[in-house]
Amino acid sequence: MNIILLGAPGAGKGTQATKISERYGLPHISTGDIFRANIKNGTEIGKLAKSYIDAGKLVPDEVTCAIVKDRLTWDDVAKGYLLDGFPRNLFQAEELDKFAKIDAVVNINIDFALLMDRLCGRRVCKECGESYHVSTLGGKTTCERCGGELYQRKDDNPETVKSRLEVYEAQTAPLIEYYTKKGIILNFTGTEAPAEVLFAEIAKVLDEKMGL
Ligand code: ADP
Ligand code: ZN
Repeated sequence: MNIILLGAPGAGKGTQATKISERYGLPHISTGDIFRANIKNGTEIGKLAKSYIDAGKLVPDEVTCAIVKDRLTWDDVAKGYLLDGFPRNLFQAEELDKFAKIDAVVNINIDFALLMDRLCGRRVCKECGESYHVSTLGGKTTCERCGGELYQRKDDNPETVKSRLEVYEAQTAPLIEYYTKKGIILNFTGTEAPAEVLFAEIAKVLDEKMGL
């Protein structure tokens, strides 16, 4: 099954993606993670992407679509995959339709008022990617899961977050209608409850879809 995860920055896509990927054995393809890895390794793509990401803007479609198109030629996607953070606008969605067949779109709706604090207080594990909120860390600087060092993403600051949320509203939110019309959207509501609560709901629906 080929799945897209849709939702505003901070809606909890990354956390849900890890859980969905583990449960169903689907490779987790995150364009944000791919860009960050490229920045870390100093590649040409990384150099180009950095200025856009730091400003909270979308990396140009041409580059982003080419990366995903190539990624979907790997052997590991034969039994399906999970796209996280792609597509992010109508152009990307239409391009994707040319080289992929999407079965389901998991859309996480969330109250915008929660997002600024969530993102600006987010700390991410350098090793495993798990995210935390500063308010629950009690000063700890390492990951509970793997002991890795926690860091704050450079784009998790008020100014950049504001831009990311504006980009989401203007460019990404219209995808909800796009996939609703195709009849493949599955809607969920993100809350302040632990991620396991939302995941249980998502898993119930996906289990059924996959006949598990
Ligand atoms: P979030 O959903 O929290 O904003 P991501 O890791 O998905 O985080 O994305 C981080 C940044 O990477 C985005 O703000 C954007 O600059 C860039 N990016 C990720 N995916 C895409 C995409 N599909 N198209 C263009 N830019 C992207
Ligand atoms: Zn970790």
